[in-house]
Amino acid sequence: MANVGFIGLGIMGRPMAGHLQAGGHTLFVHDLVPIPQELVDGGATVCGSGKDVAERSEIIITMVPDTPDVAAVLFGENGVAEGLSAGKIVVDMSSISPIETKGFAERINALGCEYLDAPVSGGEVGAKAGKLTIMVGGSQATFDTVKPLFDLMGANITLVGGNGDGQTTKVANQIIVALTIEAVGEALLFASKAGADPGKVRQALMGGFASSKILEIHGERMIARTFDPGFRINLHQKDLSLALSGARALGLSLPNTATAQQLFNSCAANGGSAWDHSGMVKALEMLAGHEIGQESGG
Ligand code: NAD
Repeated sequence: MANVGFIGLGIMGRPMAGHLQAGGHTLFVHDLVPIPQELVDGGATVCGSGKDVAERSEIIITMVPDTPDVAAVLFGENGVAEGLSAGKIVVDMSSISPIETKGFAERINALGCEYLDAPVSGGEVGAKAGKLTIMVGGSQATFDTVKPLFDLMGANITLVGGNGDGQTTKVANQIIVALTIEAVGEALLFASKAGADPGKVRQALMGGFASSKILEIHGERMIARTFDPGFRINLHQKDLSLALSGARALGLSLPNTATAQQLFNSCAANGGSAWDHSGMVKALEMLAGHEIGQESGG
């Protein structure tokens, strides 16, 4: 059993840290907001800074929103880097820039420590169930050391390549998820406007080629009109920005990713930054002048 640091106990970090605690590891936790009571009751030590966490832990996990947040947690004043000593391991499980990640890893390596980028997919549901997909970049030896912790949080765990490759895989994942949400939204909107029951249409499609987790979970949210996150639109906008800026740098065209980003932008412009990303359907509904489930009127 290890002393494990966990920084960022939000929608995802909270259940992930809970699984590590239930697995018998000793937690040292830090956040800008109060730590969830169940972790404290379970014996987690609340630390005042990333430095404090790093001094007391062998493996330090970060799960914060964006690239600048990871930079602040690792290299800001009283950050993790100030508390590290040789041989410790930093594991960033946030979804952030693959390019910046390579720089972060070099700076951590220069302190005699190891770095893994290990973003996740599976959402709050997967985090609570301990069934996340974890996409890892780093060395085989470090991956092997951290794998028992990953096993407590995830079910499909892959070492993709060197540092940055885990984050690149996550960006690819987010392209597929955004475009599939868009496709499910268009399909259910079409069915609804044509006068079919969207719930029945979803049920009918679940067995065939169009079946997917997105049709199952996000399609359900679109029909039930429940857009509480889940995964916030502003986080998905961040991920698609990484895809689109990466495309520009690589000389690559991602036309439908650009469209999906515009639809998220429309949601944000209409007060939806914190809606679940299935709320993308609301931008399509505004274009259609029709809401899923509404009487088709013909
Ligand atoms: P969240 O906003 O719910 O939680 C982030 C936590 O980090 C918050 O508690 C916040 O206070 C804390 N934090 C931010 N800056 C900090 C700092 N400088 N020091 C200490 N704590 C700090 O976000 P989330 O939904 O848990 O997402 C976290 C990461 O996981 C993001 O990169 C997101 O893209 C990714 N992700 C989220 C989901 C999802 O469904 N929510 C799924 C897969 C991946």
